[in-house]
Amino acid sequence: MALAQAAAEEARAAGEVPVGAVLVRGDEVIASGFNHPIGAHDPSAHAEMVALRAAAQAVENYRLPGCELYVTLEPCLMCAGAIMHARIARVVFGARDPKTGACGSVVDAFANPQLNHHTTVSGGVLEAECGAALKSFFAERRRASRAARAAARGEADAEAAPEADGEPARTEPH
Ligand SMILES: [Zn+2]
Repeated sequence: MALAQAAAEEARAAGEVPVGAVLVRGDEVIASGFNHPIGAHDPSAHAEMVALRAAAQAVENYRLPGCELYVTLEPCLMCAGAIMHARIARVVFGARDPKTGACGSVVDAFANPQLNHHTTVSGGVLEAECGAALKSFFAERRRASRAARAAARGEADAEAAPEADGEPARTEPH
């Protein structure tokens, strides 16, 4: 999960929502990926999808049985589908995603035995740390947009604009 967190920081550096994923087989890291749908102009460029694609290319097989996927945020429905198609043995995720989580938060795609009989899921691993990385990203983005709005209004010191402008703190995965 530490490697997935490092991949998430690559997404942050690129200005994308910081989510990272690593695909391992036994002790071997096969691939990693970070979220970058904006830069790639690709709605499917979630960290899990990127890691799955890279791993499948590396082993020259679209199926990845016996592999485990570590990801800092609960996978969405798209990623859950790809994980099942790849026959990943186990998914380990960090923070839960109350907006698009497909491992129990919004829906539980993996709980349906007609859809899934290959993948087990463990959630909430390093949940606080993974969630904090996302919260700090959105807090910084709100701070930057407040500063930009203040600057647009012609305030001399946008950085000093008060924090309490009625916008509640909240988690905004994706
Ligand atoms: Zn996804």
